[in-house]
Amino acid sequence: MLLFPSLKLSKPKLSPHPNPSLNPYISQSQSKIPNFNRKPQHPLHKTIQIKAIDAAQPYDLESNLNSRFIQSTKLKIGIIGFGNYGQFLAKTLVQQGHNVLAHSRTNYGDAAKKLGVSFFSDPHDLCEEHPEVILLCTSILSTETVLRGLPLQRLKRNTLFVDVLSVKEFPKSLFLRILPKDFDVLCTHPMFGPESGRNGWKGLPFVYDKVRIGRDESRVNRCERFLNIFVQEGCRMEEMSCKEHDKNAAESQFITHTVGRVLEKLSLESTPINTKGYETLLNLVENTSGDSFDLYYGLFMYNHNAMEQLERLDMAFEALKKELFGHLRDVIRKELFEHEKKDFGVPKEKPMLPLLLENGKSPPPSMI
Ligand code: NAP
Repeated sequence: MLLFPSLKLSKPKLSPHPNPSLNPYISQSQSKIPNFNRKPQHPLHKTIQIKAIDAAQPYDLESNLNSRFIQSTKLKIGIIGFGNYGQFLAKTLVQQGHNVLAHSRTNYGDAAKKLGVSFFSDPHDLCEEHPEVILLCTSILSTETVLRGLPLQRLKRNTLFVDVLSVKEFPKSLFLRILPKDFDVLCTHPMFGPESGRNGWKGLPFVYDKVRIGRDESRVNRCERFLNIFVQEGCRMEEMSCKEHDKNAAESQFITHTVGRVLEKLSLESTPINTKGYETLLNLVENTSGDSFDLYYGLFMYNHNAMEQLERLDMAFEALKKELFGHLRDVIRKELFEHEKKDFGVPKEKPMLPLLLENGKSPPPSMI
C-alpha cells in the first residue's frame, strides 16, 4: 500500500474484513468502517493519509505483464554526438519512453537533464551501461575519428549500430570496416531536421538500409523496434540502398542546400509585396541556414555525386546567363540600327560583290 500525503482521496468503499484483527484498515479499537474524518492521534498521522488502495504491487500479475510489455517495446539508446541533431532526436525518443543516454565532446549535462537524458562525459561510462542501440549523430567530418575513439569492447557483443548521417555510403563502409562482425548495422537518414520537423514528423521521409542485421529473432526484433520509433511518429518509411540514397540526395538535398546558401549570401529581406514564390525562397534560406557549415561541407565531400551536381548547377547558371545576354544583344542591335535609320535615313546596303565599271575594270577606291 502506498501512502501519498499530498493527495486527496474520496472515501474508498471497504467491505468489512471477516476477521477484524487482520484488517489493515481497522485498528482493534476502531469500529468496523474506518472513520476518515477522525483526527489521528499520532503526530506522524497528521501528514499521512491513505490515498490509494489499488497501487500496483511488484508481485501483481497485471503489473508484471505491463512492465514486461514496456521492456519489450522500449530500448536503451546511447546517442553519440549530442549537438543540434542529437538533441532534436532525443526529445522524441524520451517522449516515446525509451531510456536515452548520451555522450558528446562538449559537456551537455544541463541540456540533457532538461530532456530527461543521462549524460556521460566519458564514453567508457556510457558503453558500460550496455545500451542496445548506439545512435551516431556526429558531424559527417568527425565520424571516423569519433567511431575509432569509442571503447567498443565495453559494449554488448551484438549491439545495434545506427547512424543518421546525411550521406550514406560513407558511414556504411566505415561501419563495415571498423565494427566487430557481431554488431548489427542500420544506416538511416531522417530527411528532416529541427526546422522542417518542428511541428512533428508526420509524412516526412525516413530512409533506411538494413546493412547487416543478424538472423536471430531478438536482433531482427530490436531493429524493427528502432524503426518503429519513426513509424509511430508517422514518417514515410523508404527502404533504399545507401548508394541509391546518395544519388537521390545529391540531386535533391545537396542542390537545395547549395541554392539556400547562395541565396543566404544575398541577404534577402522580406518586402511588403512578397509573392508566394519569394516567400518560398525566404523559407528555404531559413531552413538551410540553421545547419552547420560542417554539415554542408560533409554533403559535398562525402557524396561523390555532389561534385557533378555542383558543376551542373554552374553550367545551368551560365547557360541561363548566355540566353539572357543573347536576347539582350538582339534588342540592343535592333535599337542601334533603328537610331541609324532615323538619323541618316535608310542606310545604303553595301553590295556583296565589288562594283565593276562598264569596261569591266575595278572602280577607284573613291567610288566604292
Ligand atoms: P553537425 O555540425 O553536422 O554535427 C554536430 C555534432 O558533431 C555535434 O554533436 C558535435 O559534438 C559533433 N562533432 C563535430 N566535430 C567533432 C569532433 N571533431 N569530434 C567529436 N565530435 C564532433 O550538425 P548536426 O546538425 O548536429 O548534425 C549531426 C548529424 O546529423 C550529421 O551527421 C548530419 O548529417 C545528420 N543530420 C542532420 C540533420 C539536420 O537537419 N541538422 C538532418 C538529418 C541528419 P559537440 O557538439 O559535442 O562538439
